[in-house]
Amino acid sequence: MTNLEATITERRRQTRNSIYQYLFYSDTSHSKLEIASDLSLSLPTVHQNLTELIEAGLIRRDGTYQSTGGRRAMRLTIAEYARFAVGVSVTDNGLRFVAANLRMQEIACKKTERLAISEIDDVGRLLANELESFLDEFGLNRSSLLGVGITLPAVIDPDNENIRLAPTLHLKDISLKKIIQYINYPVYVSNDATSAGYAEWFSSPEQSSMAYLFLESGVGGAVLLKGAPYFGVNQRSGEFGHMCVEPNGRPCKCGKYGCLEAYISSARISDDLGISIEEFFKGLQNKKPEYEALWQDVLKHLAIGVNNIRMALDCDVVIGGLIAMYMEPYMPELRRLAAQLNTFETNGDYLKLCHYSRSAATLGVALHFIREFIESI
Ligand SMILES: [Zn+2]
Repeated sequence: MTNLEATITERRRQTRNSIYQYLFYSDTSHSKLEIASDLSLSLPTVHQNLTELIEAGLIRRDGTYQSTGGRRAMRLTIAEYARFAVGVSVTDNGLRFVAANLRMQEIACKKTERLAISEIDDVGRLLANELESFLDEFGLNRSSLLGVGITLPAVIDPDNENIRLAPTLHLKDISLKKIIQYINYPVYVSNDATSAGYAEWFSSPEQSSMAYLFLESGVGGAVLLKGAPYFGVNQRSGEFGHMCVEPNGRPCKCGKYGCLEAYISSARISDDLGISIEEFFKGLQNKKPEYEALWQDVLKHLAIGVNNIRMALDCDVVIGGLIAMYMEPYMPELRRLAAQLNTFETNGDYLKLCHYSRSAATLGVALHFIREFIESI
């Protein structure tokens, strides 16, 4: 192919891609005419590209517009089931699999039992086997699978080859290869909070900057600046769980004292009271004094944490993870406590609750392949 031909082909691809992305990012379906007018393309160009995209099974018809006399205009949208991606989260509570279509809708989901693994090599085999049975169980077509994203509560090396530290999984300096080597599909590995934050940012209408605070049995987070994750020099940005909020305070799993995680993680709640998170919030609703006292302490430290994040980054702070599933009734109180600490603001309106609760990390890591696909069309 000559250079000129390559340029023309690439330009044609860009046009096709702009039409696909226009439909992908639209909330509603559109007619040919709307596409041509909004993208400043000629009708024949739009027609030609749409024909190709429909033939490839990537765009579908979505009914017709009300007739204004003459032929009714066809509505078009993306074929959301044309491909799918799988997200897997590896936690001390087991493996969680989610398959998501191109619209990030869950099409299948499965959870395994708590991991009783002595060798990290076993996790790799188990993951690959469970993945295959997940695909079989839900009749998912492997030829439409874009890739498998894996999230871990771990600090992962910038070159994505090693797990540096994963306190809740009791792992340190382990090669990622041991976990992914048995998987026969494209694989992408990411920190769980980073993935969850990415999914939240993608689903937010403004898609501007945000900090994401991930409350699970450990506490992590993510920073997204105008849509791009900010990883930090050592891949440790958003490690909000290890901000010190009480000098010489409660011991943290990282080995230090007084970390935010030691106060606000779900593990703190269940360890202190010896109950599950569900039981805790049920008891809290029934105003059990012991639970209320602990919860006040959680909220107090959570408010310190979110106010510190707000002071450092001056953007929305989104709360996600396991605890976020139960947070809604307590958000006004949390906003009040955070506002009390704030030098510049009298309310805590910047504090938001997540859009995805349980599946944020798995959806977020699957989104890596979905976005890659959308950009490649
Ligand atoms: Zn810590």
